[in-house]
Amino acid sequence: MSSTFPTATIVGYPRIGPRRELKKAVESYWAGRTSAAELETAAAELRASSYARLTKLGLEAGNYSIPASFSLYDQVLDTAVTFGAVSDRFKDLYDADGSLGLDAYFTLARGDSERQPLEMTKWFDTNYHYLVPEIGPDTAFSLANDWILRDVREAAEAGYTVRPTLIGPVTFLLLSKAADEAPAGFNPLSRLDDLLPLYLELLGKLAEAGVEWVQLEEPALVADQAVPESEVAAAVERAYAVLAAEAQNRPAILVTSQYGSLGSLLPVLAGTAIDALHIDVFKGSVPAASELARLGETTLVAGVVDGHNIWKADLGVAAQKLTLLEGTVKNLAVSTSTSLQHVPLDVEDEQQLDAQLRSWLAFADQKVVEVVTLARAIGNPGAIDADIAAAAEVLASRAGAPGVNRAEVRARTSALSPSDFTRGDYAVRLAAQEEALKLPALPTTTIGSFPQTSEVRSARARANRGDLTAEQYRQLMQDEIRRVIDLQEELGFDVLVHGEPERNDMVQYFAENLDGFDVTVHGWVQSYGSRCTRPSILWGDVSRPEPITVPWTQFAQSLTDKPVKGMLTGPVTILAWSFVRDDLPLGETANQVALALRDEVTDLEAAGIRVIQVDEPALRELLPLRREDQAEYLEWSVNSFKLSTASAAPATQVHTHLCYSEFGAIIDAIDGLDADVTSIEAARSRMEVVHDLEAHGFRRGVGPGVYDIHSPRVPGQDEVAELLEKAVQHVPARQLWVNPDCGLKTRGYTETEESLRNLVNATVSVRSQL
Ligand code: GLN
Ligand code: ZN
Repeated sequence: MSSTFPTATIVGYPRIGPRRELKKAVESYWAGRTSAAELETAAAELRASSYARLTKLGLEAGNYSIPASFSLYDQVLDTAVTFGAVSDRFKDLYDADGSLGLDAYFTLARGDSERQPLEMTKWFDTNYHYLVPEIGPDTAFSLANDWILRDVREAAEAGYTVRPTLIGPVTFLLLSKAADEAPAGFNPLSRLDDLLPLYLELLGKLAEAGVEWVQLEEPALVADQAVPESEVAAAVERAYAVLAAEAQNRPAILVTSQYGSLGSLLPVLAGTAIDALHIDVFKGSVPAASELARLGETTLVAGVVDGHNIWKADLGVAAQKLTLLEGTVKNLAVSTSTSLQHVPLDVEDEQQLDAQLRSWLAFADQKVVEVVTLARAIGNPGAIDADIAAAAEVLASRAGAPGVNRAEVRARTSALSPSDFTRGDYAVRLAAQEEALKLPALPTTTIGSFPQTSEVRSARARANRGDLTAEQYRQLMQDEIRRVIDLQEELGFDVLVHGEPERNDMVQYFAENLDGFDVTVHGWVQSYGSRCTRPSILWGDVSRPEPITVPWTQFAQSLTDKPVKGMLTGPVTILAWSFVRDDLPLGETANQVALALRDEVTDLEAAGIRVIQVDEPALRELLPLRREDQAEYLEWSVNSFKLSTASAAPATQVHTHLCYSEFGAIIDAIDGLDADVTSIEAARSRMEVVHDLEAHGFRRGVGPGVYDIHSPRVPGQDEVAELLEKAVQHVPARQLWVNPDCGLKTRGYTETEESLRNLVNATVSVRSQL
């Protein structure tokens, strides 16, 4: 317990591997192509190669500076199975010896033929998604899984003393939801005292295995919670009084608080007997000495290097923060602000990028070096002056580079006036759209993408390599669009889509076609489970050189008399799923993107498109974690959406799509988007959202998803009908649309066709009862 904390560390490291090896290993196990042993071997290799990389980059192999932050699917799920925190509906997954193994783990994540998986939701203000544990009053906690011990032993055998990581007890319970069997009003946090003995037991086992440091992650403490702050503070005090009690046989405890400032919980945590406390001083400011006074011997681990974006650090600013802290605390260490799981692995993998742009970037490996560099300055003022000067030069090169600040783009945004942001009266629009579209009650539609077959993906790869001419590629995509239109006609959908075969990704596709962006080749980051995205890099002022989606949409519309929805990605989502510039307010960048999309809307209308969907699945993701910061964000984000759509004629039906069901908190903002129809996720949370809609008196068109596309499971016709019947009870039928939860891109055709057929048939049956 007295072991000193290393001076340089990171909160966590990407888990998917340089070439998405984890994705491939996990998916081939799911498909039955490889065995559990083969999956374990692949995972062990990934862990070993990460430790080797980190050591090479300057973290020490022997002193706990390397976190064991690997997971096969999700770190919250890992903690849930470690402590047997599974609700009644998953109870049968225990093995006879009381353990939860690999298949139980994946069933919780993905469901099976009989049950839905755990709900999935956004991880703080990132594009990572975690699985929401379900806890009831009688959930029997136990040490049900010991992968954490295995990882430590495996690392030790290879010569690394790694720091095991777990979600801390307060965050774990705050992120959990009440299980189905729980009575109304049950709060998982009330189970804290039942859970703590299990953490203690595990800490004891880690100590027995010789582990000297453990990392307990408490990011929920930087976000405002539904539970009053005094209750959270009491839980923190209680949890760490128990876990860090002197008498315990335990490793030293590092508590991390990534993604923002602890606020009033900082002195609370500082006053506990934990041995090290990580705080985010990239996003948050350097706390006053008075807030840190209670730390005493506890090491402050200062997260000064941004773990969440990809720009090289301003080492001068970071070093200044460290100097300030050195004057205040007794023991100081340097870290990233968050886990590096949110950034790609290595800039050196992107040789195709413009050399100047590349010189501005730091991915995970480069950030580790920044941390190690900054740690050299502790107690050694002047030691890194040359590095600080080099970092300043990088920033100067960015500021003056062509394309970063374009007069014509700035002139357009500064000329905007309030009328550019508003559409006409909703009632007038509704009447005009009814007249123009003549849709039945409970109109059916999909969210946009259809399954991306290997043929489609290979055509795109061949076109990128130059093995297909532009004309050949266009032909192949048009063939696919024709198939998708024919299928929707055959299934009986009312508003059709072209299926988005030409898009690799809903953001990257636009980034590739707009000025001011660049894209990477290997820059994957984990979104959830085995799913990864490749965020684009928004580095300069944004404009649209020419129409992007118009030819494809127009082609699709030429094949059918039914309306085809034009599909655009909204400004907030384009920002949220890209690495954004940090040298211009986000709201200003959002307006630049919005104006580019507005031009696209105008061109789609001119091409005869009557329904246009502007997806904003990420609207909630960027919502600040503190309530006091939310109004300003919602103001610019909602405005940028409105700017992108406000030029549409009254008869043009504007749709939007949001990718989550936790709706209540921002329902006013969603209403404020002024879209005619909003589709949202709802199947996995069993339509809970209709209560929010009802309570709010939502009066626009709304499509709560009736088919969970995140899992391969096919929903039965009765199941869909049941969800629809529930919806009709709470939302007037004339407002309701019927659609899946999200795009179908990641699904296969067999399950998709079956599911969509059930969806349409269920609609027809519910319609007949209206
Ligand atoms: N239109 C997109 C699609 O269908 C929306 C995806 C999303 O919401 N993430 O794929
Ligand atoms: Zn979605």
